[in-house]
Amino acid sequence: MLDPNDWEAFRAAAHRALDDAVDFLRDVRERPAWQEMPESAKERLRESLPREPSEFTAVYRTFVETILPYTGGNIHPRFFGWVQGTGTPGGAIAELLAATMNANVGGRNHGAVYVERQVIAWSRDLFGFPAESTGVLTTGASEANLIGVLVARTRALGSEVREHGIDPQRARITGYASAATHGCVRRAFEIAGIGSEALRILPTDTHQRIDTVALLERIESDRASGLRPFLIVANAGTVDVGAIDPLDEMATIARREGCHLHVDGAFGALAILSESLRARLRGIERADSIAFDFHKWAHAPYDVGCVLVRDGDAHRATFASEGPYLTRMTRGLASATPWFTDYTPELSRSFRALKVWFTLKEHGADRIAAAIEGNVEQARALGAAIDADTQFELLAPVGLNVVCFRYRPRGIDVGELDAFNDELVIRVQESGIAVVSSTSIGGKRALRACFVNHRTTDEDVRMLIEGIRGLGEQLARERALT
Ligand SMILES: *Cc1c(COP(=O)(O)O)cnc(C)c1O
Repeated sequence: MLDPNDWEAFRAAAHRALDDAVDFLRDVRERPAWQEMPESAKERLRESLPREPSEFTAVYRTFVETILPYTGGNIHPRFFGWVQGTGTPGGAIAELLAATMNANVGGRNHGAVYVERQVIAWSRDLFGFPAESTGVLTTGASEANLIGVLVARTRALGSEVREHGIDPQRARITGYASAATHGCVRRAFEIAGIGSEALRILPTDTHQRIDTVALLERIESDRASGLRPFLIVANAGTVDVGAIDPLDEMATIARREGCHLHVDGAFGALAILSESLRARLRGIERADSIAFDFHKWAHAPYDVGCVLVRDGDAHRATFASEGPYLTRMTRGLASATPWFTDYTPELSRSFRALKVWFTLKEHGADRIAAAIEGNVEQARALGAAIDADTQFELLAPVGLNVVCFRYRPRGIDVGELDAFNDELVIRVQESGIAVVSSTSIGGKRALRACFVNHRTTDEDVRMLIEGIRGLGEQLARERALT
């Protein structure tokens, strides 16, 4: 009913779309880093639910004209805005092939399941996790962090918590993370019913790493108040500056305090692929769970993250459920237990593993590592250039791949700098030269340039600096005139 009437005509249209997609990626550099979707395009999208069919080619034409040009910019070589992956041409084809199979990877006995198991096995090896550890691909690190928090909750309170909920009369559990921790960890506490007040936010040092003395003090004082510390969340690459917490020391603390150690390594954990960067993650192999993304520094197309859990039984006990429609058999399509749905809130799941498997096989871990090392070097170089330029001020040391700085034209009032730099960020984006984003470092508004892009060249970094300087000077002149 929904298949083409004329397969050959569909084949021609499909080839055309594929050719256009390849051209689109090949020529990405010639387009602006970002351009706003014009009102006319938004207007064209607005319509009531189509009741009548349209030709595939007509729908495709509307897509090419009104949607395709308006990317979020992250496929562009001068996208530095946020920690977002670039994707790869091969990964895009893998996504097409996954959709062709239309696999439902909640479980059962079919090829896609074995591909995901292989990707998990590679991940386990990468982080030195034992054979009995478990893992599952997720929508991203937000879901992976949520799973880590829920497993830690199971380990602290037993799986009965699934039936009874959290009973504050019985145990009040508390978790610990630094102020530089991503907001999704707080959200995980909210969603898990633990409450974000139970997440203790600890100060950081000048490199934005958790203050472990404060951590120990807080654990001790909570314990003295009758609370039950159950989870320490460590960062392997903070979202603002790419800081890596002292993982080994935190693993020792977690073990001594009887806490689960979860690592949010959304992007930074994959630095483990690199021979030269690996040492910075020392201790990550001692974590009880690790969340990381394949869609950031491994460039698999969105969306795909991963969580690894050392205590596979606790992982299963957190999610495994039964239902007559989910009966497992020893042979046939309903076999091949355990099923991935036993490790995640999801039942129907896409074949996320295929794009990861394709990407890792096509490029190999070493080439991806080389791209990661290149980004770290580019961030270091940008940081050095900013530091050497009196018009700029570096606002945080460059720990890994994120540079936070501001433009500081002569004669400007310090009170105006925040608004000036926020405006500058917008102008850089609107110019199409590059994309940077804003954050606050020590109360100062900053331009933030993240290096997570395998397309970025040294020339792109130079164009970024020149672009910011030019737009900054222009803005300063305008301010002086008004
Ligand atoms: C991106 C990011 C997250 C959230 O991951 P998603 O894949 O966007 O859900 C969490 N923590 C850190 C440090 C991140 O950079």
